Amino acid sequence: MKLIVLGSGTSVFHPQRAASGFWLQTESGSILLDCSADAPHRMAEEGLDWINLDAIWISHLHLDHCAGLAPFLFGMKYAPGVGRRTKPLKIFGCEGVEKWLRAIDEAHNYRLFKQKFPIEIQEVEPDAVSRFGVVPELNAETFSTPHRRESLAIRLIQPHGKVIIYTSDTGYSEELARFAHGADLLILECSFYRNKPVPTHLQLDEAMRLAQIAEPRKLLLTHLYPEWDAVDLESEAKKLWPGETIAARDGLRLEF
Ligand SMILES: [Zn+2]
Ligand SMILES: [Zn+2]
Repeated sequence: MKLIVLGSGTSVFHPQRAASGFWLQTESGSILLDCSADAPHRMAEEGLDWINLDAIWISHLHLDHCAGLAPFLFGMKYAPGVGRRTKPLKIFGCEGVEKWLRAIDEAHNYRLFKQKFPIEIQEVEPDAVSRFGVVPELNAETFSTPHRRESLAIRLIQPHGKVIIYTSDTGYSEELARFAHGADLLILECSFYRNKPVPTHLQLDEAMRLAQIAEPRKLLLTHLYPEWDAVDLESEAKKLWPGETIAARDGLRLEF
């Protein structure tokens, strides 16, 4: 499996960090984890086959995680080469994502759902037990996070293969760390260095405490506010947890 970081940033505009988006490539398909306004352009910039993207996951309805959905569907209507696509695009995510997208669609009769291929929308419940399919050979489970009422973390599981967790935005939760336990890759938010201004995000010492409980093989810290520009995240992280920690940056490619 391969992960490409499209956006390691936040809602605050930053010259080197786009807002949230991660391209996950498995042998059987591709999934975009969160779709910020920057994500469609970033997929093109990274040379990814966005025309044949299989699935989009939306963790919650903050615009730095979902605002690219409507522009992506609008662009797909006119993209050269899309006429050859017949397979469906699956959009799955938190409660309210369908209503949000349909409200934009109706605001100007964009006909975002009138595509040359089917669009399947599925809202999922926070439920760590019920598995559902994402693409062939990849299943998922979700977990409610202390960020927004609707916000969800997702665990992606290959049968007899790798496990990836993407927390998206979250406050401190040891239950979440237990949900994430034993991942091959844990993509964890680490919005702030210290003195976080809100309880609904993480600062470094909290993120590393969650890593201690979750014990991932690889930890990718993301959703980095501009204050991180002045700090060496990886060496600060090492002081708090001895495992492999990687600071996300746009364009980073991980194989595992
Ligand atoms: Zn965010
Ligand atoms: Zn958020």
